[in-house]
Amino acid sequence: EQQRVAELVESLMRDVPDFPQPGVLFKDFTPLLSDGAALAQVVDDIARRHRGEVDVVVGMEARGFILGAAVAYALGVGFVPVRKAGKLPGATVTEDYTLEYGSATLEMHQDALHRGQRVLVLDDVLATGGTAAATCRLVEQCGATVAACEFVLEIDALGGRSQLVDRVVSSLLRA
Ligand code: AMP
Repeated sequence: EQQRVAELVESLMRDVPDFPQPGVLFKDFTPLLSDGAALAQVVDDIARRHRGEVDVVVGMEARGFILGAAVAYALGVGFVPVRKAGKLPGATVTEDYTLEYGSATLEMHQDALHRGQRVLVLDDVLATGGTAAATCRLVEQCGATVAACEFVLEIDALGGRSQLVDRVVSSLLRA
């Protein structure tokens, strides 16, 4: 079953060289998204492995919103968005993280999670891990617990797991 889902991801993630800038191999998941049967399999697989173990799904802007909302619905739990600075209307908690050049800030509504809630952190791609690590810190700022971090595709060479030591991390495909 895991093998079948991995093959599906492999066949439906599109490599786009030099996007958004020269030297980056962009992993585009829109072909997977537009295939209804594949989308259902991916969402169901993620939901099945976390059923009963999470109280809420947290997804990162922007592709984590799409997958996250679907997985939350499948689990019958809520969804909480993590956004780039300045996009959320309410009072927020914030975390800075470093990018290849410079830094960025992520935000989450400060009242979105409750103390003790078990959270599934979800995104399409784990690259350097900066985004996921900052998201985990946002969750913990609110007193909630990161139950697991889940990705459709993990780019092994970028070493994202080193930012998520001591966390439960899984991905449907490692490339
Ligand atoms: P990082 O913080 O480096 O792990 O980057 C993760 C975030 O950037 C995720 O939200 C990904 O969707 C996106 N991302 C980074 N690198 C890539 C890539 N090569 N292909 C697709 N998305 C990427």
